[in-house]
Amino acid sequence: MSEVFKGSFTQQEPIPEDGIEAAVDVMRSGRLHRYNTAEGELSQTALLEQEFAAQVGAKYCLAVASGGYAMATALRAVGVKPGDKVLTNAFTLAPVPGAIAAVGGVPVFVGVTDQLVIDLDDLAAQAGQADVLLLSHMRGHLADMEALMALCDDAGVIVIEDCAHTMGASWRGVPSGTQGKVGCYSCQTYKHVNSGEGGLFVTDDPEVAARAVILSGSYMMYEKHLAGPPAEAYAQIRYETPNISGRMDNLRAAILRPQLRKLDAQRVRWNERYFAIETGLRDTPGLTVIERPADEVIMGSSIQFLLQGWSATNVEAVLARCLKRGVELKWFGGAEPVGFTSRYDSWRYVDAPAMPKSDVVLAGIVDMRVPLTFSLEDCALIARIIKAEVSAVYQGS
Ligand SMILES: *Cc1c(COP(=O)(O)O)cnc(C)c1O
Repeated sequence: MSEVFKGSFTQQEPIPEDGIEAAVDVMRSGRLHRYNTAEGELSQTALLEQEFAAQVGAKYCLAVASGGYAMATALRAVGVKPGDKVLTNAFTLAPVPGAIAAVGGVPVFVGVTDQLVIDLDDLAAQAGQADVLLLSHMRGHLADMEALMALCDDAGVIVIEDCAHTMGASWRGVPSGTQGKVGCYSCQTYKHVNSGEGGLFVTDDPEVAARAVILSGSYMMYEKHLAGPPAEAYAQIRYETPNISGRMDNLRAAILRPQLRKLDAQRVRWNERYFAIETGLRDTPGLTVIERPADEVIMGSSIQFLLQGWSATNVEAVLARCLKRGVELKWFGGAEPVGFTSRYDSWRYVDAPAMPKSDVVLAGIVDMRVPLTFSLEDCALIARIIKAEVSAVYQGS
């Protein structure tokens, strides 16, 4: 009898009790809007911003409606105009090129390496076309950030970091999202903190911060921000910047604050699970584990491996056989986008040239979510199932 996994790949942990209590307090108060504060009261949203800025070591933080909204706001705040080209990853999720499209920009895709990070040679070759790179740390894989920042600084390219998968991660001790001009995070259910929907935006640049605050829909109440720039930063900007509503509310902020306090502890738990799976997958013929650089502290909320050089039929056989045993794998090589899985040539509103080198990598990427509701035994079982099914198909091929 072969083992079957019975858990759910989409089941998150409950909201911590202190978050639930804080949320109930906000509901009892009736003051859910971030600027609706009683005399002397600091809003949950303003406190969240202050705490997150301190946590990552950024000067300014703005909480918004989603990660996608944070990215579009960042692009607007650094001056991207309709028709401008914006560099971004060929391997990322749909809201990333979507944020560029939202501001009328034109995505220019940069290739992916077999370490699943942005290809710096391709970035160097293409950097002359654009003033901005929307860099997606897709699935938590960090490129060599010193090399990337040096390259972009030399080319005069502003870096905006998409940290949807790296909230809580760091590169050589630097929290992800603080090396570029702006760091954008998602607080959506499937990321590292869960308020259903939500986003965070950090920067050290007072002008960019001021523009973002006004863009998010602050009306003229920006002085209620505890993690915003000084009032003088708004002097001109407040007249020139449109209000494109996308605020965070106090209910979500109340839920998020206790979760952010637990982020380091959650990282330990995520990485125990990640490395339990990784260990179990090692030495599987035909399967390549992605070696994580020593400079990277990861948030192991998902794991990827490569089936390099495999035929589509055989990859699909592995997925089907694993699914029969309860293990849900996603594949970035499929001809059609499925679920959350798509890639540069799925986004046909962009006129993107073919990327044969990236296609080879994408064709082998298999991806799996690792929710914290899995036990370490679950992780070992999942790895045994994948190993057995990959081996069976590999040997039969
Ligand atoms: C989820 C996600 C986003 C966007 O976050 P939302 O809060 O869903 O808008 C951006 N980039 C990546 C890589 C993501 O996975």
